[in-house]
Amino acid sequence: MQIAVLAGDGIGQEIMVEALRVLEKLDLPDLQLKPADVGGTAYKNHGHPLPPATLDLVMASDAVLFGAVGDPDCDDLERHLRPEQAVLGLRKEMQTFANLRPAKAFSGLENLSALKPEVAGAIDLLILRELTGDVYFGEKGQRQSAAGLREGYDIMAYDEQEISRIAHIAFKAAQGRRKKLCSVDKANVLQTSVLWRTVVNEVAADYPDVELSHMYVDNAAMQLVRNPGQFDVMLTGNIFGDILSDQASMCVGSIGLLASASLGTGTHGLYEPIHGSAPDIAGQGIANPLAMILSAAMMLRHSFAMETEAAQIEQAVAAVLEKGLLGHDLGGNASTREIGDAVVAQLAG
Ligand code: NAD
Repeated sequence: MQIAVLAGDGIGQEIMVEALRVLEKLDLPDLQLKPADVGGTAYKNHGHPLPPATLDLVMASDAVLFGAVGDPDCDDLERHLRPEQAVLGLRKEMQTFANLRPAKAFSGLENLSALKPEVAGAIDLLILRELTGDVYFGEKGQRQSAAGLREGYDIMAYDEQEISRIAHIAFKAAQGRRKKLCSVDKANVLQTSVLWRTVVNEVAADYPDVELSHMYVDNAAMQLVRNPGQFDVMLTGNIFGDILSDQASMCVGSIGLLASASLGTGTHGLYEPIHGSAPDIAGQGIANPLAMILSAAMMLRHSFAMETEAAQIEQAVAAVLEKGLLGHDLGGNASTREIGDAVVAQLAG
């Protein structure tokens, strides 16, 4: 179990310490934690946000735990040297085309959601977003229209292989959960979505135990706030997933609670909180480490098939929140260290 530990910038450094303490508490066999610089820290120490030594370590490791990157000191650097470029470089090199974002209500936090408590309390879903195709990566530009007007364009396209590989990941994820998969598209208007739906239906034949449904994206956006409890796994293309996953995350409560995984075809994945480096609170010891700790749980589940240990961490986090130990992002005053201590103690107990 070699893990590349890329804490990065700002609160990334502080929350990573707590996630590593949690992993160490589990007494995992052969756990090797190998730290390396990334982001603004790497630029300052090595002249590049993703130095070759970091990339070599990432490619030689079984999984990557990633804190956050982003440093106001680096805002004026040329684009390719900015800390955030490290994330794009890692996605490209690791070929991680699937982004998994779970959103789950925590008992005791229902009142912090933007939704009514009884609606928010039922959320337990996973958004699976395609990450390397769609309108973001198609041909794009600006031109002159036939009428002589300025015109912008971005071509939406998915080939069948791109669709089927993410569909397989979605069906497998559903098998490990409540066995329900909702594929989100706009097949009433877009040809890309017509093919998406066809291929997802073909892949479904390999997973007869999973109940598949299809939903148009506009309806999905509405259902996500009306009755999010109906969803188990939601499969989406890149642009729809971008929007729906942010919407789903805020239905839960705080940005400091949400983890994510980025996966390719194998088990080599990158695990990170959905938030950034939070320069406004960095160095104060008040960042909530739970999203980072939950990212480590996702790593155990998806890269190492350690479902039991992943669930242990998730239950410990839920128990700490239920006891009312809340960080500043949730209106409490527990420090980063106090929250880490509580999760470690919960695991011991
Ligand atoms: P942010 O997510 O860093 O912070 C947004 C707000 O949420 C801030 O007020 C912050 O204090 C708070 N917050 C975030 N995480 C928290 C936590 N764990 N506990 C308590 N409060 C928390 O977003 P931003 O301010 O827009 O961006 C800051 C930097 O992070 C930028 O440089 C941005 O480019 C970068 N960024 C990096 C990633 C990444 O590493 N994948 C993702 C998003 C943003």
